[in-house]
Amino acid sequence: MSHTATVAGIPVDTRHWIGGRRVASASGATFTDHSPIDGAALAEVSRGGAEEADAAVAAAKAAFPGWAATGPAERARILHAIADGVEKRLEELAQIETLDNGALLRSHRRGVMPRVAHNFRFFADWLTNELSHPDFDTNTRRNHVSWDPAGPCVLITPWNAPLMMESWKVAPALAAGNTVVLKPAEWSPLTASLLADIAHRAGLPAGVLNLVQGYGAEAGRPLVEHPDVRRISFTGSVPTARHIAAAAAANLTPTSLELGGKSPLLVLADADLALAVELAVEQYDNAGQVCLAGTRLLVHESVAAEFTRRFVERANALVQGDPRDPATDIGPTIHPRQLERVDGFVRRAIAAGGTAVIGGSPRHDLGDLYYRPTLLTGLPQDAEAVQEEIFGPVLTLQTFASDDEAVALANGTRFGLAATVVTGDRKHADLVTGRLVAGTVWVNCFYVRDLRAPFGGSRQSGAGREGGTWSFDFYCDIKNTVTAQEAGWTRHG
Ligand code: NAP
Ligand code: MG
Repeated sequence: MSHTATVAGIPVDTRHWIGGRRVASASGATFTDHSPIDGAALAEVSRGGAEEADAAVAAAKAAFPGWAATGPAERARILHAIADGVEKRLEELAQIETLDNGALLRSHRRGVMPRVAHNFRFFADWLTNELSHPDFDTNTRRNHVSWDPAGPCVLITPWNAPLMMESWKVAPALAAGNTVVLKPAEWSPLTASLLADIAHRAGLPAGVLNLVQGYGAEAGRPLVEHPDVRRISFTGSVPTARHIAAAAAANLTPTSLELGGKSPLLVLADADLALAVELAVEQYDNAGQVCLAGTRLLVHESVAAEFTRRFVERANALVQGDPRDPATDIGPTIHPRQLERVDGFVRRAIAAGGTAVIGGSPRHDLGDLYYRPTLLTGLPQDAEAVQEEIFGPVLTLQTFASDDEAVALANGTRFGLAATVVTGDRKHADLVTGRLVAGTVWVNCFYVRDLRAPFGGSRQSGAGREGGTWSFDFYCDIKNTVTAQEAGWTRHG
C-alpha cells in the first residue's frame, strides 16, 4: 500500500513520524481523511494506537538529553530554519489545509500560514532575548531564576486551526528544550505531516519532534496516560479535556488546557454601530468554528432594532461557497457530524420558541456541509443555544437595559474564553471590561492577538495561560538557584 497521498498536487506522507523515521501502524490500520469542500477522500492516514504512542514517547525521551543540552542559540537557529521552511512551502501548506479542513484559502495564505512561521520565530527570539529574570539578593545570597527544559511533551490539537494550533504549542515546547509528541485531530491530519518534513530538513535532530496520527481515544489516550510525559498541552473541547485532566492526574503531569467558549460581544448604547456590525459579522469567520468567536451578541435595547437591521443586511451579503474561491466569505463546516450538531442546536432553539432572523438551515445547493449564517433571537439566558458552544455559523442576539444587566448576561455561562465590547466611550469601556470574566477582552476590535500576551480561558474555557513568558513558564521546570556571595568558596586552579 502506498503511504503517500497526493493532495492539491503535493505529495504527503501519511504515516507517523517517530524517532526520525516514517513508520506505519504496527497493526497496519489506517483511516480515511476527507475534504469538507466536497466530501472527497484525500488520504489514507496511519491510525496509531498504544504501540505507536509508546514508541513516540520513547523516542522523545531518548532525544531529550541531547536537545536539552543544545544551547538556546542553536535551538533558536533551528526554529528559525523551520520558519524559513514554512515560508518556503507556504502556498502548499495553505492549499492542503484548505482542502483538509475547509477554512478559507485566502485566510490560510495571508493570515494563518505566515502566523505559523511567526510562531517559530517569536519563541526562538523570546528564548534568546527576553527569557530572563533579574537576579536578586536575600541576605547576601544571590537568587538566580532559570527556565530548565522539562522533558517529553504531548501536544494534542483540534481541527479548526490545525497547523496554527500545532505551531503555537510545538514552537515554545521546542524552544524550551523539550521534545515533543504531536497528535493532530483526525479530521485534519495532513499539514502536521508536512511540518515533520520541514523540521527534519531544518536540522531538528531525530526524536525531538514526533508525530502520531489517529483517533483521540486510541492514539491520544495512551499518550496522555504515559508516565514518561512531563507536560500535556491540549486544545479542544471540554468533554475531552475532562478525560485528559483525569488521565494526567494519575501521574500529576502538568497540563495546559485551552478549551471552548461562548463569548459575548457587547454593543453598548454609545457604540459606533457600523463598527459593531462589522465586528459581529466577523464572528462567522471559518463558518463559526473558532473557539474565540463572540457568538452571543448582547445589544443595548436602545440600538437593538437598528443594529439588527444593519446586521441582517450585511450578513445577507456574505458569499458562501468553495473556500478556495477568493470571493467566498464562508466555507463549509468540517464534517457531517459537525453539520448535524449545528443543525440540531438550531432546530431545538426554534422548537423552544427562538426565531431564526436569518439562516436556520443547511445550504444543500452548495454541498453536504454548508450551513447558512444564522442569527437566533427570542431566547432566554438559560436556553441551550445561549449556554452551549455550537461551533458553527450561529449567533444569538439578546438585549439589555443597563450595564449591570449586560455584565450579568456576559458572565452568565460556564465559559470565560473571550469577550468583545463595542463602545464610543473609553471610561465606559473600562467600567465594563473590569467586570468581565474572560482570558482575553477586546474593545472596538476583535481577534488581534500579540504573541507576547497571555492567552487562555477562565472557568471551563481552560486552565493555564500560554504566550510569551507564560509559555515558557508552562513548558519549563522553573528553578531558583541561591548562591552565597561571601562565605564557602574554595579556590580552584
Ligand atoms: P476535541 O474533540 O476535544 O478534540 C481535540 C483533540 O483531542 C483531537 O486531536 C482529538 O482527537 C483528541 N482527543 C479526543 N479524545 C481524546 C482522548 N480521550 N485522549 C486524548 N486525546 C483525545 O475537539 P475538536 O472538536 O477537535 O475541536 C473543537 C474544540 O476545540 C472546540 O470546543 C473549540 O472551542 C476548541 N478550541 C479551543 C481553542 C482555544 O485556544 N481555547 C482553539 C481552538 C479550538 P480526534 O480528532 O481523533 O478525536
Ligand atoms: Mg479532513
